[in-house]
Amino acid sequence: MPIRADYRRKAVRCPLPGATVGTLGMGVGGIVIGMPLGEKMLIKQIRRSARGGEAVVTGIGDDCAVLRVPAGHELLVTTDFTIEKVHFRRHWHRPELVGRRCLTRGLSDIAAMGGEPLAVFLSMAIPSDVPQKWVDRFLKGLLDLAEEFKVPLAGGDTAQSATGIQADIVVVGSVPKGKAVLRSGAKPGDQIYVTGELGGSAAALARLGESKPVGAEYFRHFSRYSRPQARVAVGQWLRQHRVASAMIDLSDGLSTDLEHICQESHVGAEIEAEAVPRAQVGRWKKELGKKRVALEFALHGGDDYELLFTSAEAVPAEVAGVRVTRIGRTTQSAGMRLIGADGKSRPLKAGGWEHFRGN
Ligand SMILES: [Mg+2]
Repeated sequence: MPIRADYRRKAVRCPLPGATVGTLGMGVGGIVIGMPLGEKMLIKQIRRSARGGEAVVTGIGDDCAVLRVPAGHELLVTTDFTIEKVHFRRHWHRPELVGRRCLTRGLSDIAAMGGEPLAVFLSMAIPSDVPQKWVDRFLKGLLDLAEEFKVPLAGGDTAQSATGIQADIVVVGSVPKGKAVLRSGAKPGDQIYVTGELGGSAAALARLGESKPVGAEYFRHFSRYSRPQARVAVGQWLRQHRVASAMIDLSDGLSTDLEHICQESHVGAEIEAEAVPRAQVGRWKKELGKKRVALEFALHGGDDYELLFTSAEAVPAEVAGVRVTRIGRTTQSAGMRLIGADGKSRPLKAGGWEHFRGN
């Protein structure tokens, strides 16, 4: 159900006892039913965002959004939950960054197919004790990023949550017919590549878990300084130049996401530990430079939103201004292996870093 500009406050009975649901009156009435809207700037932003996309024929204000699919293209649709205490904590993460991460997850999925994002839909369930200010700041983070990527918020819904904040983002994108880069296209002997650096987000999260400060040096995480960026331009370049045989975005960690490619493509993989680009963190020291995160963070940590792809073609060291690193190769034999600096090989298990389980 799209966000309706014509409803000031609409509340209807919800199947859950004691809860109400409402259509987002983001145009005039605020996002959360029964809460006052104090942020004129926010309304302006939403309207600007809603007007921003050529693909949206009818956006906020009707029963459905009407989208225009470019001629000769197919639709891409992805949906992702952002749940309090599972994906973020209110006392760790600023609301702007929760909003930013929420949209980044969706954009990153579109990037992984080599697609172009067209429109965003957001549904939120919010407990009554969450201040309007939190919601406004969450939306600001999300909408600022939407503007960066020129993708409009074309609809959404709200409900009251009994426990915790839940946001579900839907991103609709497009890709030329038959050209989406799938997880299933890798062949044995393809080389394996990643964009950017890995593990910075997990390293920051581990520090937060130990109640240690996370400063500017941990900029890869969704902290105040973070800029994990969905690699939309890189994904499109790899698709246009037919470089990637299979691709996935790194949301759950290299080992977990690589396993998805292996399973869908029916190949195995060998990763060279020394080749994995580990994020630089910590204070810069004259003699030492910055230190790199532990290999475990780079292998198993999530929330990096880099691209992992396979290729039998020549791959440039940089694509769309982003570093690309070869980290291994696919194999005929099933299973994933990690080759250490000593040349010895050992099994690589998906999500082998148990520390992150249950966070
Ligand atoms: Mg994904």
